[in-house]
Amino acid sequence: MTDPSIPSGPKPGAVGKHPDAKNWRLATKMVRGGTNRSQFGETSEGLFLTSGYVYPSAEEAAARFAGESEGMIYSRFANPTVGMFEERMALLEGADAARATATGMAAVTAAMLCYLNTGDHVVSARALFGSCRYVVDTLLPRFGVDHTFVDGRDNDQWAAAVRPNTKMFFLETPANPTLDIIDIKAVIDIAHEAGARVIVDNVFATPILQRPMEYDADVVVYSATKHIDGQGRCLGGAILAGEEFINDYVHTFLRQTGPSLSPFNAWVLLKSLETLDLRVRQMCRNALEVADFIADQKKFSKVLYPGRPDHPQHELAMSQMDMGGSVITVEIKGGQAAAFRFANSLSIIDISNNLGDSKTLITHPRTTTHQRLSEEERQEIGITEGTLRLSVGLEDPADLKEDLAQALSSV
Ligand SMILES: *Cc1c(COP(=O)(O)O)cnc(C)c1O
Repeated sequence: MTDPSIPSGPKPGAVGKHPDAKNWRLATKMVRGGTNRSQFGETSEGLFLTSGYVYPSAEEAAARFAGESEGMIYSRFANPTVGMFEERMALLEGADAARATATGMAAVTAAMLCYLNTGDHVVSARALFGSCRYVVDTLLPRFGVDHTFVDGRDNDQWAAAVRPNTKMFFLETPANPTLDIIDIKAVIDIAHEAGARVIVDNVFATPILQRPMEYDADVVVYSATKHIDGQGRCLGGAILAGEEFINDYVHTFLRQTGPSLSPFNAWVLLKSLETLDLRVRQMCRNALEVADFIADQKKFSKVLYPGRPDHPQHELAMSQMDMGGSVITVEIKGGQAAAFRFANSLSIIDISNNLGDSKTLITHPRTTTHQRLSEEERQEIGITEGTLRLSVGLEDPADLKEDLAQALSSV
């Protein structure tokens, strides 16, 4: 007794609405993947800004709750616009399934909490986004989940950290803000040998440059706030995984705990995905040009960019990433005072802790994103007083170089 005037909407997480979608090339997937038109035949993806759904009959409502009939129940569970975003993300990465979340941190936290239990152990790279580090070193221990931090660049440390109760590895590559590169394949092999699952936070690389699923990652998480939106408008996140991990762990956890993505944000993110490939590749070209310019300046003691041959792990980076990424980390001579003077003197580049934006942004990790760490912990991962992280955007790189040069003259 289904009313044909009510679009059934995509089955949440189902991959490949179009029968051939999985075989499309990346650019086609980004423009068309997951598109599920309503009875109105709209060209652009429909925005279903609704919290709930009506049922043609009480019997149909009962059938949907019993899981005997497909269709929407409540937008905390599924929403057609969010469903399209999930399908497009899964296709991009080549994952079985994806689930959207309200933020990147909701994705990271849910991917861990849905699977881990008291008494489990996690091995994690030490160089992490500040909030990810909080989840591992402060939140998980409150629930009896132990962790060991390792230097993610050293495969032996990953292997040596494994215990009989190790259930999960967590890593981010390139890492924020140190741009450490982790050998994804080697670390995944070590984890699987030990019976542990691997979560890769792929925010810095984006699915355009690096797809950890190709190396057998169990779970890939994204902050869609960064390059995926890339235009500073909305927060979002995604968990990508195999069918079994999504069905057995992620699905129920998200439905019952509720870190759902707003349909409006999902719609913005869908439109952003259409240009993700173009934007990320141009950002990488701009970043390389800016990094080369910075490397010639005497006032910097260090420039780290995975796409430059002088990055200590350049070869590994280029073997698993298509391009060098959009982030450059530098160290200015003269410590925090010089770093602040330099940042304050920029006139185009903005001071902001966001990244992956079309606007070029600079941040001082020691006093912002990594303020929570002790001085010793910061030194361990190479964040000094003079460290600055530059997220290169889509402006003309000539203007960026001129802005950097004029700001340097004030230091
Ligand atoms: C920003 C970021 C996150 C968190 O994403 P939000 O959308 O801000 O919650 C997680 N990991 C990395 C590497 C990030 O850069």
